[in-house]
Amino acid sequence: MEEKGKIWFNGTLVDHGDAKIHVLTHGLHYGTGVFEGIRCYKTIDGKSAIFRLQDHMQRLIDSGKIYFMDLGFTRRELEQAAIDTVKANGMEECYIRPIAFYGYGKMGVNPMPNKVSVAIAVWKWDEYIKSGGGEEKGARLMVSSWARLDPKTMPMHAKATANYANSALARVEALKAGFDEAIMLNSSGMVVEATAENIFMVERDGSLATPPASSGALAGITRESVITIAEENGISCKERNISRDELYLADEVFLTGTAAEIKPIGEIDNRTIGRDAGRPGKVTKQLKALFEAVVHGKDEKFSNKWLAPIN
Ligand code: PMP
Repeated sequence: MEEKGKIWFNGTLVDHGDAKIHVLTHGLHYGTGVFEGIRCYKTIDGKSAIFRLQDHMQRLIDSGKIYFMDLGFTRRELEQAAIDTVKANGMEECYIRPIAFYGYGKMGVNPMPNKVSVAIAVWKWDEYIKSGGGEEKGARLMVSSWARLDPKTMPMHAKATANYANSALARVEALKAGFDEAIMLNSSGMVVEATAENIFMVERDGSLATPPASSGALAGITRESVITIAEENGISCKERNISRDELYLADEVFLTGTAAEIKPIGEIDNRTIGRDAGRPGKVTKQLKALFEAVVHGKDEKFSNKWLAPIN
């Protein structure tokens, strides 16, 4: 991580090294924080734009609501803060990380006596999931031995820092076993998502399937974008429960997420996906190209609706 530039912290842009918090911050001890991941892309007009900024900031506010957090800024103010942070760092393309957390003040599990802090940082993040099988092949995944958090245990529609201890266990397990990423099942044994990405499969008839939000999956903004773009291009998508062996037999599998974007999958639990030695399939490649056109402002229909210009 580059330790220069500016971070937006509770309403002001401060130097990167000055965005500090106390070791007794509530969110650090008890996982009482919520965050977002957003991307800013270069657009064909030579400028930059943030993809689905409004939807991400709304999800941040919604995540906060679940944890009784009043962020103290309106959605519009948070949107402007993200734009200001990108500008202040002179970034053409970057990943944007807003976070809100219960701060320093009173220890004990109850977060409510503590003030909420909000910060926005940006950094360059090119490829989040590497393809161990080589760039022309998809990523290699394993089903994690850790179950996804159960909706009865944790509110899965909050993008809360606490949820990512579960994700981190699964991701480390996968990396240590030589895989690129983990697939998480729920306590009923059905597929939910990867550690920070939603998952899709291509059915025999060329349509898409993805687990429903009720499986415990985060309502991903890339997921929703891909479903919308696919439908616009005549590819339908069913939200349905999916078992791990259905993934083994799928023609194509891919992940979606802000950091990972659209990531083709070549292998799951040492089974090659599809009929072309784990290389990305036709539908995945088509959707990836369409998605890239949208985020770079080349598709008027969606670009106008989903891109917030920096200037
Ligand atoms: N699931 C989880 C658990 C995630 O952390 C993410 C990343 N935010 C996603 C799915 C994908 O969501 P999005 O497309 O909104 O980035």
